[in-house]
Amino acid sequence: MSFDYDLFVIGGGSGGVRAARVAAGETGAKVALAEEDRYGGTCVIRGCVPKKLMVFASEFSGMVGDAQAFGWDIRPGGFDWNLFHGKLVTELDRLEGVYRNILKNNGVESFDQRARVVDPHTVELADGTRKTAKHILIATGGRPVVPEFPGSDLAITSNEIFHLEKLPENILIVGGGYIASEFAGIMNGLGVKTTQFYRGPQILRGFDEEARGLICDEMRQNGIDVRLETNVVEMTKAGDKIRVKATDGSEDQFDVVMYATGRAPNADDIGLEALGVERGRKGEIIVDEYSQTGVPSIYAIGDVTDRVNLTPVAIREGMAFVETVFKGNPTPVDHELIPTAIFTQPEMGTVGLSEEEAAAQESIEVYTTSFKPMQKSFAGGSQKVLMKLIVSQATRKVLGCHIVAPGAGEMIQLAGIAVKMGATKEDFDRTVAVHPVMAEELVTMRQPVRTA
Ligand code: NDP
Repeated sequence: MSFDYDLFVIGGGSGGVRAARVAAGETGAKVALAEEDRYGGTCVIRGCVPKKLMVFASEFSGMVGDAQAFGWDIRPGGFDWNLFHGKLVTELDRLEGVYRNILKNNGVESFDQRARVVDPHTVELADGTRKTAKHILIATGGRPVVPEFPGSDLAITSNEIFHLEKLPENILIVGGGYIASEFAGIMNGLGVKTTQFYRGPQILRGFDEEARGLICDEMRQNGIDVRLETNVVEMTKAGDKIRVKATDGSEDQFDVVMYATGRAPNADDIGLEALGVERGRKGEIIVDEYSQTGVPSIYAIGDVTDRVNLTPVAIREGMAFVETVFKGNPTPVDHELIPTAIFTQPEMGTVGLSEEEAAAQESIEVYTTSFKPMQKSFAGGSQKVLMKLIVSQATRKVLGCHIVAPGAGEMIQLAGIAVKMGATKEDFDRTVAVHPVMAEELVTMRQPVRTA
């Protein structure tokens, strides 16, 4: 049977674009891709990239005070949201163009419309055109969700935060995950009076407790009103403001309320039900280790599968799919020991098990040090950083590495290589320190602070 294409990809985000480009560019497969929104997906258009640019923008406010302490005669000025936002929009347009060109230059035909699957080898575009393909790859990503409660329609999500007409005077951010905690730091740094509600006892659930505790303390130190064990009961419009009633009995008014309470896979309305493609509890597409669904010609990668929802993981899943299906080399996706960064202020870099997870699994030694970094300390700041290693008593392997410090994301990428290679504590110890840098503490911690 002959098909219009060897591969039809639905979704032009990080995972979909990578799979399409590698399949077409490296194996000569005939590939098409459909995208209903902007090319680049969540990460490039309304996620990691604009977020990181906003982190950069927000960090300058603290630098002025530091620079003064180092002898610079400079004064803090105002932040011009319109100027920054104009440049941000231009940069995102440029990046979207790069993504479109990647596809074009690799011979991938793209369709700027929504697509749905009508049978195991046929895709229907929004204009009614049907295309057949030997393989279909679903890479439609996810979207933010706001829980239903009185006034929930007044909330914005991370999708809208990048396009505020003006910076609010104050903001409430609800949630304690990556997105809520990162945006609390961003908004605070940009000079917005920031409140964060989290329903549980500590933000960043699932990460190392000591690290989460330090981040929360420092966020408060930076001026964010982090209210733990607190949730919204109802929201009502009060003129230009939003009146928020909270579970702690408080009532406050905010210019903007942003919900970052999790994301849902974009798997509805793409024809999966009729084909019997299995979905999970959150609606995610169920796939095996090769990203294959129960319908053999249909694969899915990235956030729509809700495995590990990170751009580099979606890209890996896309590459492993091409390796398996187009290069004849069955390659399962390796989801073990993924280093990751959380761009809170202070930033966190982490790989492997938290102390709590490791202790539940085996006997461990914990090496940890917390200190004032040279630059901040000289400037009179009280901020602390944390370096922490979790070591298996039986194998001596470093099971987890957690860093809370400026630049922690850069550090963990490198420490992640060692941990992924199975480095032992003694391997860390025999590596000579780089002096004077914060990360040298990772190779100079001699005695465990505790065993568990
Ligand atoms: P998360 O799932 O990480 O966090 C959701 C937060 O909202 C949790 O604190 C959760 O609380 C809370 N929550 C859930 N439901 C409710 C509710 N009904 N009322 C109040 N609070 C609620 O989601 P995010 O949206 O922060 O991020 C989504 C994903 O995006 C992440 O998992 C991550 O994979 C990815 N991401 C990665 C980044 C990075 O690598 N730096 C940056 C941004 C996103 P509880 O803990 O109690 O469940």
